[in-house]
Amino acid sequence: MRLTGTVVADSDTVYEDGAVVTSGDEIVAVGDRKRLAQQYPDHDSRSFDIVAPGLVGSHVHSVQSLGRGIADDEALLDWLFDHVLPMEAAMDAEQMRTAATLGYMECLASGVTTVVDHLSVAHADQAFEAAGEIGIRGLLGKVLMDHDAGALQEDTDAALAESERLIERYHGAFDDRIRYAVTPRFAVSCTERCLRGARDLADAYDDVRIHTHASENHDEIQTVEDRTGMRNVEWLDEVGLTGPDVTLAHCVWTDETERAILAETDTTVVHCPSSNMKLASGIAPVEGYLQRGITVALGNDGPPCNNTLDPFTEMRQAALLAKVDGLDATALPAATVFRMATEHGGQATGFDVGALAPGRPADVIGLATDTARSTPVHDPLSHLVFAAHGDDVRFTMVDGEVVYDDGSFAHVDGDAVRADARRHADSIYAEISSKD
Ligand SMILES: [Zn+2]
Repeated sequence: MRLTGTVVADSDTVYEDGAVVTSGDEIVAVGDRKRLAQQYPDHDSRSFDIVAPGLVGSHVHSVQSLGRGIADDEALLDWLFDHVLPMEAAMDAEQMRTAATLGYMECLASGVTTVVDHLSVAHADQAFEAAGEIGIRGLLGKVLMDHDAGALQEDTDAALAESERLIERYHGAFDDRIRYAVTPRFAVSCTERCLRGARDLADAYDDVRIHTHASENHDEIQTVEDRTGMRNVEWLDEVGLTGPDVTLAHCVWTDETERAILAETDTTVVHCPSSNMKLASGIAPVEGYLQRGITVALGNDGPPCNNTLDPFTEMRQAALLAKVDGLDATALPAATVFRMATEHGGQATGFDVGALAPGRPADVIGLATDTARSTPVHDPLSHLVFAAHGDDVRFTMVDGEVVYDDGSFAHVDGDAVRADARRHADSIYAEISSKD
């Protein structure tokens, strides 16, 4: 296809009257519209106001989508143990499938083409199948919880064996659009043997990565320190959970030693500003991380702590939060934030995504600017970070396939999924409430 408009190829490169040409699952050309129209006259052409790389949601919980709004105004550990974990424990396979599909619908319809998805302990197959079906790209993992996990508690060996089964079944599946991340929930809910087992599993397979939460909240950090005598990131480093294949969500509270570990081990941090604000976790030192050369990607976290998966809102929040944190209006300019949501996300996932360039996967979005909010557009990067909303996305291509086009999904009936989601959410909420 030939996709034309103002092309934001990456955080440094804009073609005002540009085009992106895709062939099969690959981008073959990016540049001037007229030149590419002559060079590729037979390609189907679509026109948008802005054409951009698909965004990377580097930390999401698709299977929590049915819990949107169930636990507002709660502190992290209460939010998690009193509301979110009971919800996950109450969900059956069909509900998990619907929740994951709903989450991926929201992502694709708002321009996210790749997710790093923290699933639940059970029914992980349902999310892998849902991702495969709807056409999103993703690094997915079944959650590991073998310590103080209540209803979700698992036997260590059984949890690692189930992860290995899922790796064998889904890592590289759907034309390598879906890959596996070994996914301990966080250090609080995992034994040392489980965490070391996660590292061993990742090392046993090419391109299997590790994704977990870290240092989001003071109570979490204190719990880990009481148990291990170490700061959280020091502990994760001790058990092998740092490195270029590791993505740590949050890292709000780190000390000097921990920041040095993150930099030296080339560990990726995923900033989740909306979640950090809503759960009153704090403000991650993003500027400091970037200045040290640490890769910082961007994530929405889950619907119960955000409450949306809109990546444009998240970019805006990231920029505004950094500015107010440092009382410095020059902090995190639009191009930097856009890089976190695209190229840094690509690095966080191991997929070669996050920029429009020949040879890269054809993950492309098209946006409209036909509203008062979108008029005028002086600088497309500024527009994408500070003014655009997910609803402005009209077209989403993943791996060369148009999976979302003007309100419709290629492979799922959006209205039917939303009806199922409402029905399942009601029954799950009724079940949880009856146990209170
Ligand atoms: Zn999370």
